[in-house]
Amino acid sequence: MNKGKLIVFSAPSGSGKTTIVKHLLGKEDLNLEFSISAASRDPRGEEEHGKDYYFISLEQFKKHIKAEEFLEWEEVYRDNFYGTLKAEIERIWALGKNVIFDIDVAGGLRIKHKFPEQTLAVFVKPPSVDELKRRLKQRSTESDDKINMRIAKASVELATAPQFDTIIKNYDLDTAKEEAYQLVKDFVSKK
Ligand code: 5GP
Repeated sequence: MNKGKLIVFSAPSGSGKTTIVKHLLGKEDLNLEFSISAASRDPRGEEEHGKDYYFISLEQFKKHIKAEEFLEWEEVYRDNFYGTLKAEIERIWALGKNVIFDIDVAGGLRIKHKFPEQTLAVFVKPPSVDELKRRLKQRSTESDDKINMRIAKASVELATAPQFDTIIKNYDLDTAKEEAYQLVKDFVSKK
């Protein structure tokens, strides 16, 4: 099987990484396919099963853990489990494509350690924790409690940035998108 490259985008929730990943998925020359994670939380807003996530029950999630079917998984927030199924990566490689991940920092680093040469691990840095809070509130898809939980985690996550191959500062979205495109293009073009 042609094993494509792995492109990891990790960042605290609200940093803009999902927007950047979606932008890159629109660039045909990068030959990317999104790694759909399994998640034990409920869908939010317009999210669809099999497109944004494979939404499964906590019980099902735990069965996959036991059967060692995950490449990596994390209890990202209490009782909210997220993970990358090995079968998902195989599916994308079978298409002859490179895989792009939108996952949390611990999961991102785990993939980098498992496939050090094949992986480009990118950390997306928000301007500040206050700005992060403002963005999450503006999104208003979650309760204040859940937003506060995400903010508390963000400070811990920001400290892991130096372990990534590259840091993109998302102070201006268009600049960050262009920077991400150039980085990924260079990486996927390399033999
Ligand atoms: P959200 O609930 O906002 O969609 O995602 C919460 C966090 O879980 C985000 O940081 C997201 O990137 C991360 N996440 C999504 N899928 C995975 C996964 O497969 N593995 C890990 N470790 N984190 C994930």
